[in-house]
Amino acid sequence: MSAVPARLRPLQDRFAAVAHDALAPRAPQIDQDALWPAENFAALADAGLMGLHMPKRLGGLEEGLSGLVVATEALAQACASTALCYGMHCVASAVIAAKATREHEERYLEPIARGRHISTLALSESGHGSHVYLADTELRRDGADFIVHGEKQFVTNGGHADSYIVSTKASESNEQGEFSCVLVDRTSPGVSWLDPWRGMGLRGNSSRSMRLDRARVPRSNLLGNEGDEVWYFFHVVTPYFLLAMAGIYNGIAQAALTHAIAHVRGRTFSHSGQALSRADLVQDKVAALWARVQQARLFAYHAAELGDTNDPEALTAMLACKVSAGDTAVQVAGEALSLCGGMGYRDNGAQARFLRDAHAAPIMSPTSALLRLWAGRLLLGVPVI
Ligand SMILES: Cc1cc2nc3c(=O)[nH]c(=O)nc-3n(C[C@H](O)[C@H](O)[C@H](O)COP(=O)(O)OP(=O)(O)OC[C@H]3O[C@@H](n4cnc5c(N)ncnc54)[C@H](O)[C@@H]3O)c2cc1C
Repeated sequence: MSAVPARLRPLQDRFAAVAHDALAPRAPQIDQDALWPAENFAALADAGLMGLHMPKRLGGLEEGLSGLVVATEALAQACASTALCYGMHCVASAVIAAKATREHEERYLEPIARGRHISTLALSESGHGSHVYLADTELRRDGADFIVHGEKQFVTNGGHADSYIVSTKASESNEQGEFSCVLVDRTSPGVSWLDPWRGMGLRGNSSRSMRLDRARVPRSNLLGNEGDEVWYFFHVVTPYFLLAMAGIYNGIAQAALTHAIAHVRGRTFSHSGQALSRADLVQDKVAALWARVQQARLFAYHAAELGDTNDPEALTAMLACKVSAGDTAVQVAGEALSLCGGMGYRDNGAQARFLRDAHAAPIMSPTSALLRLWAGRLLLGVPVI
C-alpha cells in the first residue's frame, strides 16, 4: 500500500518512470563529475513534466504543493541533484505565475509549460547568508529598463537556467516594502558566472555565484509591484521551497533505506552461515528506520494538503515537515551506511552519496535552525521576522 495519496499516484508513476529510466543510470557520474543534469531535464521535458505548476490553459499540469512533494520525492530516490535542480525550477515557475502579466505568460510561463524554459531563484547573498529574504543588490530605473547591480551566491541551475528570479533593494522607497523581485534572463547584458560548483553533496546542481554588473532588464520584468519581495518570499517561495525540499530529503532517506535493505538481504556470513537479515538487532533497526521514513513522508503529504487548502496551520506544518524530512534524511542515511558496513563505505558509492546529499538539509536556507525558530514563533503568536 503506497503512502502517496491516491489522487497523486498517476503523477508519482510518471515521475518514477523518468527517475528509473533517465536519472538512475546517470546519478553516479553526475555526482562524481559534478555535472549539471542536462539530459535529465530533457527527459523531464519529453515526458511533459516541466510545467508542474503552470495553468492548464497554458499547457501546464496545474498541480500544487502536493504534486510538488510527490514529484521531488520520486526524482530524489534516483538522483537528488536532479531533484534539487527540478525543485528550484518549480519554485521559480510558481513565483513567476503568482502575479504574472500577459507578457510574463507569453515569455516565460508558456515556454515553461512546453518544457522549453528553465527558471530558478537567485536570492542568496554572502552579506545576509541564510537570511535569504534580505538583499543588497541594487535596482535602478533607466528609461524603459532597470539596471540591476550586485552579486548572488549559491544559484542552483546557475549558468544553465534561462531566467533567474533576483531579489533586490526596491528602486525607490515606497510603503509596500524595501525589497523587489525582477526576472533576469541568462542572456541579459552584464550577467556573468563565477567559480563552478564543487559541493560536498548535491554535486550536480551547479550552485554558482552570479555577478550582475549593471545588468539591463526591461521594466516589464518586475514581478508584482516594487516592494513585493517579502510577500513573494513568505507566500510563494517559502511554501513551494519547503515542500520541494521535504520531498527531496524524504526521497534520499527512502533510497538509502531501500539500498541498505537490499544489502542486508544479500549478506550471509561464511563462518556461521547466518544471514545478516536474521540478526535481531538488524531487524529492529530496519523497522525503526522504515517507521521514521514513513512518518516524515506522511507529514510532508499532510503539510502539502494543508497548504493546498489554505488551512490556518499550513505554514507551521510546512516549516516543521521540512525540518523533519531533513533530520530523517541525515539520520537514515547515516544508519543505512552503517548497515552496509565497509561495503557501503567503500568507493564513495551510493550510500556515501546519500549521506553527503542529506547533509545539505540543515545548511540550505531557510536552515533547520531558522525553520524551528519560525515555527515556534508562529505557535507562540510572536512575529516571524
Ligand atoms: C546546495 C545548495 C543550493 C542552494 N541553492 C540556492 C538557490 O538556488 N538560490 C539561492 O538563493 N540560494 C541557494 N542556496 C543558498 C542557501 O540557501 C543559503 O543562502 C546559504 O546556504 C547560506 O549560507 P551561509 O554560509 O551564508 O550561512 P550563514 O548565514 O553564515 O549561516 C551559518 C549558520 O548559522 C545559522 N544561523 C544564522 N542565523 C541564525 C539565527 N538568527 N539563529 C540561529 N541560527 C542562525 C544558520 O542556520 C547556519 O547553520 C543554496 C545553498 C546550498 C548549500
